[in-house]
Amino acid sequence: MRSSAPSPVKYISELSTLGEFGLIRQLDKMIRRADNGSGTVHLGIGDDAAVMSPEKGKDLVATIDNMIEDIHFERSYSDWQSVGWKAVAINLSDLSAMGAQPRWLLVNLVVTMDMTLRDIQSLYRGMIACGKRFGTRIVGGNTARSDKECSITITALGEVNRNQHLQRDHAKINDVIVISGPLGLSAAGLKIMKTKQSKLFPQAAQRHLRPVPRIHEIQTLLSNNIRVNACIDISDGLIADLRHICESSKLGATLDRSLIPVHPQLKKFVQHFSMNPYDLLLYGGEDYELLMTMPDSEFRKAKKHVRNLYKIGTMVKQKGIRIIQDNNQIEIIHQTGFRHF
Ligand SMILES: [Mg+2]
Repeated sequence: MRSSAPSPVKYISELSTLGEFGLIRQLDKMIRRADNGSGTVHLGIGDDAAVMSPEKGKDLVATIDNMIEDIHFERSYSDWQSVGWKAVAINLSDLSAMGAQPRWLLVNLVVTMDMTLRDIQSLYRGMIACGKRFGTRIVGGNTARSDKECSITITALGEVNRNQHLQRDHAKINDVIVISGPLGLSAAGLKIMKTKQSKLFPQAAQRHLRPVPRIHEIQTLLSNNIRVNACIDISDGLIADLRHICESSKLGATLDRSLIPVHPQLKKFVQHFSMNPYDLLLYGGEDYELLMTMPDSEFRKAKKHVRNLYKIGTMVKQKGIRIIQDNNQIEIIHQTGFRHF
């Protein structure tokens, strides 16, 4: 880890007493303690850069994403450990969408001077917990400070068997559209935390704070030779991410509303707030489930290995996304979902 050029200290805080190198030393200790000693890292934290050996016959898959205070999380509803967990989870979710097994993480942390050492340690505890659960480790990073907000940017590196990574542009006509779990719960969780009703819907809050990347599910499918033609993780909402598959594969999609699963807690949530569940199912983001397309015969095999798979529609030649309503009427969907800018 290296420290960025220090900016003038505005006021005395625990962090300014500790100093940036002091903080780095503390974090190094934590990471080393948690290290599972995987043999693929020749040189981890402590030098200018890390050195790792990818396994023979594998391709390296790389991704980067960030969590910025007041954009992606707020201190009012999220604890630091959850922020750390999620910062890793969203990156691992992107690796899962490529069919990759996560291996290494690089962490760029920007702290504000009102954060305590305990806050930062909690943040790391969350990152380490999520990393460990999915077989990866922190091999390096950078820390800096800001007067405005905390942010965590993570680069995640993974491996996939040579030439076997998944892409979003390989969907085929008549592929079935499959999701790895019910959607909408994360968006519900965000709403209840903002209205301070988390206790009423704990699973929804948990889904928003600590999403679980579908690494095990995709690895199980691939290791059992299930053919997945296209794959993406659902971060911006079902329709928005399905549109990415459709546009890049130059196809369209027909969804069947009656096949889209509704989580029992989401049912209660929409009753409580008198909402239409489909707004959350179709447009609610941050569930980090996988959206895959595959031949129907592969789906039947896949179900034997991964229980939580739902067939919700079919890829078709005609461009655009249509949804078959409960009354069998077909509606063309124009809306997208979450916009980043
Ligand atoms: Mg993604």
